[in-house]
Amino acid sequence: MTARVTFLGTGDAFNARARCHASYLVSTPSTTFLLDCGPSALLAMKRDGHSPDALDAVLLSHLHGDHFAGLPFFFLTYIFDAPRERPLTIVGPKGTEARVGDLYRAMYRDLSSRPMPFELRYVEVTPGVRCAVGPVDVLPFAVPHSQSEISLGYRVAVDGKTILYSGDSGWTEALVTHSRGTDLFICECCFYETRVDFHLDYPRIAENRARFGCRRLVLTHVGREVHEHRADITEEIGNDGLVVEL
Ligand SMILES: [Zn+2]
Ligand SMILES: [Zn+2]
Repeated sequence: MTARVTFLGTGDAFNARARCHASYLVSTPSTTFLLDCGPSALLAMKRDGHSPDALDAVLLSHLHGDHFAGLPFFFLTYIFDAPRERPLTIVGPKGTEARVGDLYRAMYRDLSSRPMPFELRYVEVTPGVRCAVGPVDVLPFAVPHSQSEISLGYRVAVDGKTILYSGDSGWTEALVTHSRGTDLFICECCFYETRVDFHLDYPRIAENRARFGCRRLVLTHVGREVHEHRADITEEIGNDGLVVEL
């Protein structure tokens, strides 16, 4: 095994068809990390038999609740249930540290006033500027999604494998540019008929499919319309618990 991606949650913000919120567990010989951490991420890790202790880092695409509101449950776990001493790295766009702090205070006010028994290392990344997160080469890039805040996609390379994650995104040529040569493209697919500039719809993905240079494309963040058009969709749709070996 060189890399394994477990689709912990493949639902949209509304948990369409009872799917969990966005989160993807990447396990390689040298590291284990999450791409996004929706509210159900801890539940889904346990469902699939993964220890929360294994996480070295969490990469956040943007600061919408369905992508980052699972973090306080991991903090709680690391304080009480599986005490942690080693650092946890949280990577995200500018403002991540303040927003995660706000979220933690809102959810566990008493606890949040005490010092953490382990170090939280925040890395606030700049779109277009690659960085190393442990052994992972991380290239964040801006995607069109939130009007007032930065939303990111990530191209990550680790142990000889490369993954592209769209985060939540409207159509952007950056998805074509960055998919080139990747082993896996985890691509959001919220809609079918509805066309907006801050989420992707299936026909848009299908019409650009031949331009993606990825080995495997898996659709996720699946919304109601996409489920209703299941029979019209030829690309692979991820299910909660899907494991992709790279
Ligand atoms: Zn979302
Ligand atoms: Zn979003």
